[in-house]
Amino acid sequence: MADQVHLTLEAAEALANGCLAANGCDADNARAITDVMIKAERDGCTSHGLFRLPGYVSALRSGRVDGRADPKVERIAPAVIRVDGRGGMAPLALERGRAPAVELARETGIAALSLVGIFHMAALWPEVEAIAEEGLAALAVTSSRELVAPAGGRAALFGTNPMAFAWPRPGAAPVVFDQAVSVMARGEVMIAARDGHDLPEGVALDADGHPTTDAKAAVDGVLLPFGGYKGSSIGMMIELLAAGLLGENFAFETSAEFADDGGPGRGGELIVVMDPARFGDAEGWAAHAEAFFEKMTAQEGVRLPGGRRLANRRRIPADGFTIPGSLHAEILELNGGG
Ligand code: NDP
Repeated sequence: MADQVHLTLEAAEALANGCLAANGCDADNARAITDVMIKAERDGCTSHGLFRLPGYVSALRSGRVDGRADPKVERIAPAVIRVDGRGGMAPLALERGRAPAVELARETGIAALSLVGIFHMAALWPEVEAIAEEGLAALAVTSSRELVAPAGGRAALFGTNPMAFAWPRPGAAPVVFDQAVSVMARGEVMIAARDGHDLPEGVALDADGHPTTDAKAAVDGVLLPFGGYKGSSIGMMIELLAAGLLGENFAFETSAEFADDGGPGRGGELIVVMDPARFGDAEGWAAHAEAFFEKMTAQEGVRLPGGRRLANRRRIPADGFTIPGSLHAEILELNGGG
């Protein structure tokens, strides 16, 4: 078996789509899930690309997640759109909710998109970036399953709880950040374990609650929040927004629902959509923010978040990318050998 297999984005898309369809997804769900994995590969985010496909498939095969779910959108309060994912993967629910939330935020200045009954395992930046490309700012948070210890603790309670934010820039790509509340995202830790790399200090505790740099011990152990108690409070806030506010699972409730099969657990996601033209600086907001970005990047050593991804996006569609031969073989196997 080749160590690495080179793929074009088109070949990867066909591979993922076919594999999801062969494992119980209807065409809409397969396309939407594939789309987020291919966007991740296109931007060089290996931990949320094809690497996740076996996890999606195992959750589909076990019947935990409905590959044919038909998400339902309703406006449940003047500024709140809710999408019930009806037990499917998150991407199709996100697609269905985006346009109504954007439309409502244009009307009211601010709108919340509440996603419930979804299984989320993807990177968050595609959902906020797509909103910023429509000229609106967006903040997204979701919880996952118990993986991160609160500051001072030794047992997992929070999810890795990513938070993403996007700011629109007329005539340019939005500025986007997307980060887990753990020092290192679990996908990165899993890849380090797979590839036999050590972790930096301060990332994880082992199953007995002792600090470790062994990635395999970290996979069986507990991740730590970034920035000590400050990151821990953000992790707590995300639990409250994605679970408490929406009436969905806290990470500890998600963990109680399933044995880890590499796939996502059920949870909620909150996206707040804001129209910068409706907050008092209708004419000047964009130029004002540009002046701020200029000031920021004028400092030596400073770059805007999202810049690494955008650089990859200029290169990978033409060059393609590689995945480990073992992952490629596994995907072919999951696709019935073809
Ligand atoms: P990183 O630490 O790799 O990056 C976090 C952010 O910081 C990115 O926006 C990145 O931009 C930016 N950044 C990195 N270095 C710099 C720098 N020097 N200057 C300015 N900005 C910088 O991300 P994480 O490991 O925390 O998270 C990885 C992914 O995992 C996320 O996409 C997240 O959504 C996903 N995730 C999903 C979960 C789920 O349940 N669905 C759970 C947990 C995580 P750039 O990309 O340009 O480097």
